[in-house]
Amino acid sequence: MEAQFSQQSVRGDTKLVGVFGYPVEHSRSPAMHNAAFAALDLPYLYVPFAVTPDRLETALRSLVALGIVGVNLTIPHKEAALQIVDRATEVAQEVGAVNTVHCVDGELIGDCTDGYGFYQPLRELGVEIAEKRAVVIGAGGAARSVVFRLAHEGAKITLVNRTLSRAEALAEEVGRKVRTLKNPVQIREFGDVEGLSRDISESILLVNTTQVGMYPYDGEIVSVPLSSFHPDLLVYDLIYNPLETRLLREARERRCQTLSGVKMLVYQGAKAFERWTGQFPPPSVIEKMENAVLAGL
Ligand code: NAP
Repeated sequence: MEAQFSQQSVRGDTKLVGVFGYPVEHSRSPAMHNAAFAALDLPYLYVPFAVTPDRLETALRSLVALGIVGVNLTIPHKEAALQIVDRATEVAQEVGAVNTVHCVDGELIGDCTDGYGFYQPLRELGVEIAEKRAVVIGAGGAARSVVFRLAHEGAKITLVNRTLSRAEALAEEVGRKVRTLKNPVQIREFGDVEGLSRDISESILLVNTTQVGMYPYDGEIVSVPLSSFHPDLLVYDLIYNPLETRLLREARERRCQTLSGVKMLVYQGAKAFERWTGQFPPPSVIEKMENAVLAGL
């Protein structure tokens, strides 16, 4: 059940947080964060704000004036917000996007918690990616957080994208920005079935960062050689609606371990929650956040 908010829930000392997006009405973040605030009995309320791109700067500047603690940013604001905040964390600068803003001493601090959200579920599963190969499909916004994080973790990365130039630009950027990078990002085209099959065969992780397979197009699947899937491969789809995409079903049928995007959504939210409240949600609350997301799917 989603947390219900009545007038009684809002008190004189209630602190406001929220999400700016356009559209924003399908966001699962309000249910997820409000479930956590309720579980920990914290006087916070999380509200969705439909902010159009032309008003993003005004809306962000208003946070300080209104005493709003912070906001998440979702489509289409993540990149534009980086140019507006007063300061950005190293991760946000590297990835080129902001998904969490925190107001501190009248300043807007921008962070990007997607890379943490992506990697934490892998850590929980005990995945050791250093010096192991990972295939990443897609080179859009979500892929940037994934690829930079995997690069910092020491993975050997193969990047596949429909638009080759976008993959090449990301690979070049990772090579330039990640000083500890030992293995340059390998680019593959979808059409290079032989090369891609070889890379998947020697990988322990395959991540879909594209929206291919997302509701309502859940019959679709990215064009990867399924015959190269093997039981030591973990297939991770950032999509969380449906929970089991066609890619994950095909992977499960080939005895791969699978992971949906729900935990990533929860952990990127948990990291934002920590920025705003000063405390990271304990495991019992993480579970409540996940249940709040699942209840709405
Ligand atoms: P984006 O910036 O628009 O990037 C989309 C990517 O998908 C691009 O690489 C694009 O390739 C590729 N793509 C789109 N349609 C395709 C097709 N028909 N065939 C092959 N490739 C195709 O989007 P995004 O913000 O990265 O989001 C991507 C997905 O990640 C969405 O499903 C989103 O829900 C999910 N996501 C999940 C979380 C989470 O917390 N679980 C967080 C962020 C995002 P081109 O470059 O060729 O256009």
